[in-house]
Amino acid sequence: MSEAPADSADALVVLDKVNKHFGALHVLQDIDLTIARGEVVVVIGPSGSGKSTLCRTINRLETTDSGTITIDGRPLPQEGRELARLRADVGMVFQSFNLFAHKTVLENVTLGQVKVRKKDRKSAEATARTLLDRVGVGAQAEKYPAQLSGGQQQRVAIARALAMDPKVMLFDEPTSALDPEMINEVLEVMRQLARDGMTMVVVTHEMGFARSAANRVVFMADGRIVEEAAPEQFFSNPRSDRAKDFLSKIL
Ligand code: ADP
Ligand code: MG
Repeated sequence: MSEAPADSADALVVLDKVNKHFGALHVLQDIDLTIARGEVVVVIGPSGSGKSTLCRTINRLETTDSGTITIDGRPLPQEGRELARLRADVGMVFQSFNLFAHKTVLENVTLGQVKVRKKDRKSAEATARTLLDRVGVGAQAEKYPAQLSGGQQQRVAIARALAMDPKVMLFDEPTSALDPEMINEVLEVMRQLARDGMTMVVVTHEMGFARSAANRVVFMADGRIVEEAAPEQFFSNPRSDRAKDFLSKIL
């Protein structure tokens, strides 16, 4: 069914029959999803369909009730030391930038490298400065988050996630909290990341980004993957009524 089936040897993230409930609510229902190394998967769907929960289970901010999640060949445990290590392979960027408000931009991007990746401070800071330059906020390194625009803060959040040297990056509506004029600067950083070969899962309402950057669109509704296809096919010829209905409302 998928237009870009991941070669199993090349699979980086594999979800196999993943189920998750919140009480009586069956929020993820038999999710099968394979993401290849270097692939950019855009996840779209109505509010409440389970997109954020899907992201949060991939780095185990949420436990699952059944099914398995494998990252680069290793099954993700529900808890423990091995989980902490594997979780560091999965970078996540949220709608709310979640920077440490009382730390400078440089410190925000340095901290995890020192604490989690056990790098020495000097090389961690050097990496942080390189990444801050890469996302275009190198000049803001000594400032505090509140002194930056929303677009700049989100780019710092991307740099902070990249600093952990993740194998895959998850973005959960990274531009939804931004003023319109700042959306593009963040999307451009993400496009560059995609061009550089990063494996990415992106929940977004930015259909222009989906069309131009995604290898595959995954459409979710009511906790299920209803449809997946290459973007040009999905947008021009959605198969399911749910997807047709959704697209008619947003396009
Ligand atoms: P989406 O990101 O697609 O809008 P979510 O994954 O945030 O959807 O939510 C899916 C469903 O799960 C929604 O009905 C939401 O209200 C519910 N939900 C999300 N998080 C929780 C939680 N921590 N406890 C209970 N219900 C939740
Ligand atoms: Mg969400």
